[in-house]
Amino acid sequence: MEKQQKSSHVVLVMVNFQGHITPMLQLASILHSKGFSITIVHPEFNSPNPSNHPEFTFISIPDKLTESHFSDKDAASPVWSLNKNCAAPLQQCLEKILHSLHHIAAVIYDTLMYSAQTITEDLGLLGIVLRTGSATTMLFYPAFSQLDEERIGIIIGIANTCFLDFVYEIKSPELEALQLKRLRALLSQNATKAMTEVRVAFANVLKRSSAIIVNSMEFLELEALSKVKQYFPAPIITIGPLHKFAPAVCSSLLTEDDKCISWLNKQAPKSVIYVSFGSIANIDKQELIEIAWGLSSSKQPFLWVVRPGMVSGSEWIESLPNGFEESVGERGCIVKWAPQKEVLAHAAVGGFWTHCGWNSTIESICEGVPMLCRPFFGDQYLNTSSICNVWKIGLEVQNLERGNIERTIKRLMVDMEGNGIRKRAIDLKEKAAFYLMEEGSTSCSLNMLIKRILSV
Ligand code: UDP
Repeated sequence: MEKQQKSSHVVLVMVNFQGHITPMLQLASILHSKGFSITIVHPEFNSPNPSNHPEFTFISIPDKLTESHFSDKDAASPVWSLNKNCAAPLQQCLEKILHSLHHIAAVIYDTLMYSAQTITEDLGLLGIVLRTGSATTMLFYPAFSQLDEERIGIIIGIANTCFLDFVYEIKSPELEALQLKRLRALLSQNATKAMTEVRVAFANVLKRSSAIIVNSMEFLELEALSKVKQYFPAPIITIGPLHKFAPAVCSSLLTEDDKCISWLNKQAPKSVIYVSFGSIANIDKQELIEIAWGLSSSKQPFLWVVRPGMVSGSEWIESLPNGFEESVGERGCIVKWAPQKEVLAHAAVGGFWTHCGWNSTIESICEGVPMLCRPFFGDQYLNTSSICNVWKIGLEVQNLERGNIERTIKRLMVDMEGNGIRKRAIDLKEKAAFYLMEEGSTSCSLNMLIKRILSV
């Protein structure tokens, strides 16, 4: 594909959660390689390190977020506040860029920063949204798009009924396998006022943007994509998996501990269970203890990521039970943060116990690693359902009790019962590799995006 002139300028509006930073920087890197110059506008909290990306211009805007926003039980609260607090500074920032450059080819914003959509529209700019989750999650949003501000306060219960009606329209086997009706109960649990408002905003931003970029592969979510395309008028551009197009992007907020790679080098092929619950999910002390004993009695080597502060009330792993370290010896390796993509691609790794964040899910699929699923919140439940019921490449850990953990690890990694799961995971990796190699599908999506950007 022809490189564009450096004068075509794209502004990316990023939200600084790890699972959102990574795909946004990967997209930035891809567009930069095609000749676009890139400015990244982001809130102040969790700022990425600009010196890792000298090719981009970074602009930070005030977000007025405090610790209390993140400790709020309502997961929507920081997102809601972020949009409220960042709207005016973002508008000023875009006006300033426009004033100095005279032209912005497109503004690409994360769905979480939905306030960018109206600002972009008001400034007469092309607005494109990046979905960092699966295409399947978009099935949820049509149910929320009809709600106006006034009705949101009283509509929470009804919103879930709307969703149920929507679910009844689903006829295809793949979508039925997702067990969306079961997930409805989880939606009701989360239906606070802020959450409902945020969902309405997501639905509207997806409806009103000029294009929707999804970090996925067509073949992986074929039926969901075809359903979603009926509801959203904007073209849906599946450019994924982004980490395969921009593998060198350095985006970790925490320092990756490489010593786990030398430890992996000493382990037998496909023997290691890699355990990581991503960048946000927390566990309590008792859960840490159950996981520790479950891993110990599974007899499988394990690489376990425990982030500092991930265990409520602990600095790091000081709550590990007495006798645990002696019982596992060299068979276990615990780190604060791992080079995950390298870990998943390592020959010694035979299973991934994950919280099923979308990035982790798609990274695991690309390396053919079967998964144990322990979702914590949001789209992780839906991803679990795709992994266990649609692609059938994983098992759900139903409860965090040591005996159950031990049995589920064995079922996934060694038992005959896991043969089919392990084989399907390899098959899916091969399909993904073929999809990536194939002339057409991916470069066609990228061309579509570039055409869209240059169309204004
Ligand atoms: N990750 C990593 N090292 C770790 C744990 C996670 O590099 O020790 C990366 C992982 O590769 C993924 C991202 O952090 O790209 C987590 O994103 P995901 O969507 O899976 O979950 P989230 O953190 O948003 O809950």
